[in-house]
Amino acid sequence: MKKVVKFGGSSLASAEQFHKVGEIIRAQEDRKYVVPSAPGKRFSGDTKVTDMLYECYHLAEEGEEFKGLLKNIKARYEEIISGLNLSLSLDSEFKVIEENFLKHIGENYAASRGEYLNGIIMADYLGYAFVDAAKVIFFKEDGTWDEERTKKVLSEELSKHDKAVIPGFYGSLPNGTVKTFSRGGSDITGSIVAQAVHADVYENWTDVSGFLLVDPRIIKNPVGIETITYRELRELSYMGATVLHEDAIFPVRKEGIPINIRNTNAPGDNGTWIVESTCQKSKYTITGIAGKKGFCSINIEKDMMNSEIGFGRKVLNVFEDNGISFEHVPSGIDTLTVFVHQDHFMDKEQQVVTGIHRLAKPDTIDIEADLALIAVVGRGMKSTRGTAGRIFSALAHAKVNVKMIDQGSSELNIIIGVKNEDFETAIEAIYNIFVLAKV
Ligand code: ASP
Repeated sequence: MKKVVKFGGSSLASAEQFHKVGEIIRAQEDRKYVVPSAPGKRFSGDTKVTDMLYECYHLAEEGEEFKGLLKNIKARYEEIISGLNLSLSLDSEFKVIEENFLKHIGENYAASRGEYLNGIIMADYLGYAFVDAAKVIFFKEDGTWDEERTKKVLSEELSKHDKAVIPGFYGSLPNGTVKTFSRGGSDITGSIVAQAVHADVYENWTDVSGFLLVDPRIIKNPVGIETITYRELRELSYMGATVLHEDAIFPVRKEGIPINIRNTNAPGDNGTWIVESTCQKSKYTITGIAGKKGFCSINIEKDMMNSEIGFGRKVLNVFEDNGISFEHVPSGIDTLTVFVHQDHFMDKEQQVVTGIHRLAKPDTIDIEADLALIAVVGRGMKSTRGTAGRIFSALAHAKVNVKMIDQGSSELNIIIGVKNEDFETAIEAIYNIFVLAKV
């Protein structure tokens, strides 16, 4: 067995947290490749090292005093080093960083030092080899990840080490400049490493015991999700991003490597498994509920729309030309509705309306604002009759007016549009009918 283990910022925020991580890694011989984040918050109100680095670099760029803040960042690492009783000095590393800040080397480099330095400490602490991500993870000129080059160089390099630490979050551009993924991107590095070494499992250690069936800010103490498929998770992407970076599933998905979300502070919990496919039924018919407020719908009507070839394309062209992506497009015989994010749409609404009139010549266009979308997702829905019926009778009982229904042809999800103000009530009604009533 070969496991890649990624630890998030709160798991590595202090020497005490490092101790927990050390115990987790040493508990299993097959935890061979370790991907650390930068030190996160030690307590609520604390600042993540990554945020300190961005701020520090901006001061340097503006020619202001930055050395005081750099010293504070150094102190965060020194606290960890002394708490672990290591005889490691980062003096020369910080000298280089200071010089590079003075040269205005770039904010990506600055942010990446959070993971880089934590990786050096982690490698020293575990006695593992340190592999700088800038030498093994590559981006293309246009800033997208260079999968081919990375796979080749990374797997070649890691085949030389039985055990290694590879810092998360960054790699390098063709000219050697350091570039980071978007925020939370260490999750992506972990996935890339798992793909490169053909790992059996990608363990992602964080500060929660996996995904919850629903947002705990809406339902108190909701049940957890034991197993979820990659596709279900994509459908629930409104909720997933806070636990796992959205892009982190793609590299492992190609190899069918499962991801196990685990809790550093409760290592005995099984967490959530994210898998390609499973014959394990989820405990309830649904796997998860997620949603978001702040959409608006553009309802377009035209008699005989159903027989007009190219109508949909013309309408969607207008959205494309205005740089607006759409979320859902349910349609009827003579109607087509486009759901978009309200804040992206607002500035351009009149251009869009005029554009649709000009191109598609509809009879009427009606805009409705302040809508929420709720995704009810579950692989179990396919084999269970009456799921939709149960959802809608629960919503009717809760006096929620359903504005839109969209069931994907995969029968994996049902999307429901409601008014923003009904959002919480609707989610609660759906949760109760499936989880509390256990159907
Ligand atoms: N340290 C980076 C951030 O705060 C990346 C990560 O933690 O995954 O976004």
